[in-house]
Amino acid sequence: MIETRAYAAASANAPLAPTQIQRRDPGAHDVLIDIQFCGICHSDIHQVRDEWGGSMFPMVPGHEIAGVVSRVGAKVTRYKVGDSVGVGCLVDSCRTCKSCKEGLEQYCETGANFTYNSFEKDGKTPTQGGYSTQVVVNEDFVVRIPDNLPLDKAAPLMCAGVTLYSPLRHWNAGPGKKVAIVGLGGLGHMGVKIAHAMGAEVTVLSQSLRKKQDGMKMGADRFYATSDPATFEALDSCFDLIINTVSEGIDWNQYLGLLKRDGAFVVVGAPDKPIPVGAFPLIGGRKSIAGSAIGGIAETQEMLDFCGKHGIACDIELTPIQKVNEAYERVVKSDVRYRFVIDIASLKK
Ligand code: NAP
Ligand code: ZN
Ligand code: ZN
Repeated sequence: MIETRAYAAASANAPLAPTQIQRRDPGAHDVLIDIQFCGICHSDIHQVRDEWGGSMFPMVPGHEIAGVVSRVGAKVTRYKVGDSVGVGCLVDSCRTCKSCKEGLEQYCETGANFTYNSFEKDGKTPTQGGYSTQVVVNEDFVVRIPDNLPLDKAAPLMCAGVTLYSPLRHWNAGPGKKVAIVGLGGLGHMGVKIAHAMGAEVTVLSQSLRKKQDGMKMGADRFYATSDPATFEALDSCFDLIINTVSEGIDWNQYLGLLKRDGAFVVVGAPDKPIPVGAFPLIGGRKSIAGSAIGGIAETQEMLDFCGKHGIACDIELTPIQKVNEAYERVVKSDVRYRFVIDIASLKK
């Protein structure tokens, strides 16, 4: 066993605090990663606070992991010591169901093995995430971070990046397509950058115009405040695709009016409460509401290569782990530009 420093929540009401966890000794197909940076995703907060139900404690969150390979198992072929790598939300899956065979491990029909708040492949050892100094992962669930991307700014691509890349690809964002991103947070700002690089026309729908300058710099063509009712009149029937990244419940019906005929409103933000939707806003215009979860491993690598090619990385605020609880408070208040990333060096001291 490998003794590992980490930060964990003891219960849903407890702040994150220092602890020690054990990682398995790397097996033949495993890679030991020296974690350097880990992003703070809003999903970490939902799960630490048990907002989705079923959280398991103690919990070491963190699924936006970037680090360097420090040891490899005897049969590892893809990675060697010193490689810059990432781990996202998945550490394994059944590998045999239709979804896994199609490279859509996030939709594994028996339930994938998630990086934390889940179980390892043995079905009984709880997984623990990236707010820690090292992690052991099967090489098939490790991805390569392009050399031109700094590891701290690349870390959030592992969840925020691929969670937007995947629906943008699936719903064919590109030249001639009008895409709106709702919420300019960790996920949303990656959506703007990636959709812009894909050639789509990008509009940000944010609560206010406070982040307008940043959004335009990221590649947005237009920026509107959703607090202003005039926005919903001005943008009536405008978009082919709307991706909603908001972590709270908002009135989806209002946004359906902004779709063109056959447009899709895709939900990636995950509030805890159900949201009622009327039949008529969907029927008129053959519109759809859909959901999308992260991305598979091959698609995560494709996204990283795309970001490497286009020089896309995240706008981050680096924080020592000792300030993680304050960082959580600021994320909840939408007061971060645009992703907190934990400098894991602060945990090694
Ligand atoms: P985040 O950084 O907190 O961003 C959410 C953004 O939503 C905020 O920056 C804010 O943008 C907007 N917002 C917040 N509260 C709002 C409210 N009451 N009304 C309207 N807008 C509001 O969070 P994130 O890390 O990007 O994650 C966003 C959501 O996606 C979370 O629920 C997370 O769990 C979920 N998620 C889903 C997946 C998936 O696979 N589907 C993956 C990762 C995360 P403005 O200031 O611009 O309004
Ligand atoms: Zn996430
Ligand atoms: Zn499967």
